[in-house]
Amino acid sequence: MTVPAAVSVDCPAKTNLTLEVGRPRAEWGGRHELDTIYCAISLTDTVTAAAKPAGAGFSLDLAGEHLGDLAASSSDMRRNHAVLALFAMAEACGREPDVALSIDKRIPVGAGLAGGSADAAATILALNELWALDWPIERLREVAATLGADMPFCVAGGYARGTGYGEIIEPIDEESELGRALQADGYAGEVLVGAYGDQLSTPEVYRAFDAVGAGEGERNHLQKAAVSLHPRSGRAIDEALAAGARHAFVSGSGPSVVAFTPTPDVRRRVIAAWERSGAVDRIIAAEAPARPRVTAVGLPAG
Ligand code: ATP
Repeated sequence: MTVPAAVSVDCPAKTNLTLEVGRPRAEWGGRHELDTIYCAISLTDTVTAAAKPAGAGFSLDLAGEHLGDLAASSSDMRRNHAVLALFAMAEACGREPDVALSIDKRIPVGAGLAGGSADAAATILALNELWALDWPIERLREVAATLGADMPFCVAGGYARGTGYGEIIEPIDEESELGRALQADGYAGEVLVGAYGDQLSTPEVYRAFDAVGAGEGERNHLQKAAVSLHPRSGRAIDEALAAGARHAFVSGSGPSVVAFTPTPDVRRRVIAAWERSGAVDRIIAAEAPARPRVTAVGLPAG
């Protein structure tokens, strides 16, 4: 088998089409029970993993225009989710983490779009190829689950139901009854992401949720809490729905807003409304559902 010198993975951001939040569980370190339908969208980060000589250790390069708190000099490279994933994979397969990682970041940071989880999942997928492990998705998910709630989903993307604290994944095939129902319900095709320059901390949103509870009839139980901390997200949702979006909601723990736009005309109207009001800072176009894409690069000649 030819082993590639480097592997690049485009890994999608996620949103939650429904997000039911249950009680916090002491045995999960205070994490809440969740029942969610995840959906990956084609807004991706690209993670490249390249082999380094034995004993050289790891390195991390970050590029992107909107790096949020990752750009701060205090940001510790060893705590980057991609690096944590590198260590977890190295330990799981008994190898040294002699790998150069680089991340081209397009997914807004701290935005409820699981950008950190996408980078971890991308790293796991890249190493599976770089190290010629050929592990099945279920085994990669087990490594991902040691790192965080959204990571097992991000390894394969698409649609999936998540339970436990979000880490127990049942993929939803697009051809299954539920998969078809989601698409018929408008949870497919073009989406607009309304993104912000500021971040929301997920633990802070959960604390607000414990205080204010879920909004009545809202399929995302965290939306009321996120909007209470970030009112512009609420305005952006109202404007998108008024402009004809089939669905518009806070993505996960926010503050980003995701709007499903069924026609080009609706899409144009949502963009115009957001640009006019300034309810979002940036608008990113994507499609749903999406899956990670793995590309081997730098294959030795022959
Ligand atoms: P969560 O997954 O906690 O719900 P989120 O989806 O809102 O978070 P992320 O973009 O994953 O947001 O970032 C959460 C925090 O994780 C950031 O504040 C950042 O400091 C940290 N982080 C570590 N590594 C990464 C990474 N590779 N990309 C983004 N954030 C990272």
